[in-house]
Amino acid sequence: MLTKELVWLLYSQDELAAKNKQYLWHPFTQMKDYIEEEPLIIASGRGIKLFDVHGKEYYDGFSSVWLNVHGHNVPELNQAIIEQLDQVAHSTLLGMANVPSILLAEQLIRYAPEGLTKVFYSDNGATAVEISLKMAFQYWQNRGIAGKRSFITMNNAYHGDTIGATSVGAIPLYHQVYKPLLFSPYVIPYPYPYREGGDDAAVNATLDQLEQLLQEKATEIAAMIVEPVVQGASGMIIMPDGCLKKIADMLQAYDVLLIADEVATGFGRTGKMFACEHDGITPDIMAVAKGITGGYLPVAATLVKEAIYEAFYADYEEQKTFFHGHSFTGNPLGCAVALANLRLIEERQMVAEVAKKSEQLAGMLQSFADEPHVGDIRQKGLMVGIELVRDKETKEPYHWNERIGVRVCKLAREKGLLTRPLGNVIVLIPPLVSTDEELGDMVNILFESIREATREARVGVE
Ligand code: PLP
Repeated sequence: MLTKELVWLLYSQDELAAKNKQYLWHPFTQMKDYIEEEPLIIASGRGIKLFDVHGKEYYDGFSSVWLNVHGHNVPELNQAIIEQLDQVAHSTLLGMANVPSILLAEQLIRYAPEGLTKVFYSDNGATAVEISLKMAFQYWQNRGIAGKRSFITMNNAYHGDTIGATSVGAIPLYHQVYKPLLFSPYVIPYPYPYREGGDDAAVNATLDQLEQLLQEKATEIAAMIVEPVVQGASGMIIMPDGCLKKIADMLQAYDVLLIADEVATGFGRTGKMFACEHDGITPDIMAVAKGITGGYLPVAATLVKEAIYEAFYADYEEQKTFFHGHSFTGNPLGCAVALANLRLIEERQMVAEVAKKSEQLAGMLQSFADEPHVGDIRQKGLMVGIELVRDKETKEPYHWNERIGVRVCKLAREKGLLTRPLGNVIVLIPPLVSTDEELGDMVNILFESIREATREARVGVE
């Protein structure tokens, strides 16, 4: 057996680095840049820290891409996988079931906004979204309302990287190149108060455009997809209170389905179990992933209202079946660890804890407010985006080519904090279990890194 010690004996760190460069193609990474740098190779994790092959430790300041809930190497979560491994590692949900997938579905419905009644599994955020879109589309076809075939998405939306999810994506850098391959949704603005004259102006712009679109086109629109309350990948843009409810009401009035993409926001991240709860709404379809397993294994789910399920429930000859599935749909190991994750969330009263910690964090983030290149500090629960600007007065952004975000995150990594920027926005999405002290450490590292990276420009300003 290749134990950890044996791996170290067989491969020196340099050899691992060389193999990494020789064989791997990394996601969202320009490999030409990557190849030139010393690679970070993680060897282990404990609590909210990750350790590289040299033994250097880092705070996991972005929860390993927004997934982690209870930290790494959590005994209860490890044990859940080990126990399930003793039973069966995988068996399919195509026409049959397995024990943890049933029990998890029950728990998901228990925690989900009231009115969601059925769970359809997949394995990643993008697949959960893909399923949501196909379900919404087929829902109207199955009901004999064939004209409702289009979708509404929001400016700078990100819903994952499969073709359907990319179609409802609206971040030019990621999505533009694929345009000829995609279907074209209608796009309305996501409220961006910092750059749109404050909360009211931003919300009104969104609602006015939505209303106009619905008046003209509702009969041809199947659904609107929304990142509820926080639009993540666009730079942690936060919807003012009440906006989501107004969107939901409007869609209902025009008979258009609402798909909530809770992939990033679900499972306590924003200080509620699901972000939809901030505005007290229940979407028709809800996609979840990331935090569902505490960040351990790839499980995702699409939850629907009974009316959606019923539109597919018919005699076989009517051909209303949802012909969609994946090899690992409802994987028992993933479902078992997701169940343990939910148990821990409840035992530790994690959601209330996040709400409390987020107040502490808000206080800590105030230290950034006077920095000359910090334009906006956005926070919902333990989701933070710090927008850096070249000129605070005019809000002029740094040019993308200056890669200010990348520079800040490189410095943070040297100082022992891992995170990834979103353009000029510095992200802090720590594991939900982070203590106030750990949050303070992470904020301090970010503060120093931002100061250092923006120093050149600051000298010019002062
Ligand atoms: N939807 C949202 C809102 C996301 O933030 C992401 C990923 O960041 C996705 C979907 C895609 O999830 P995955 O990377 O698991 O496919």
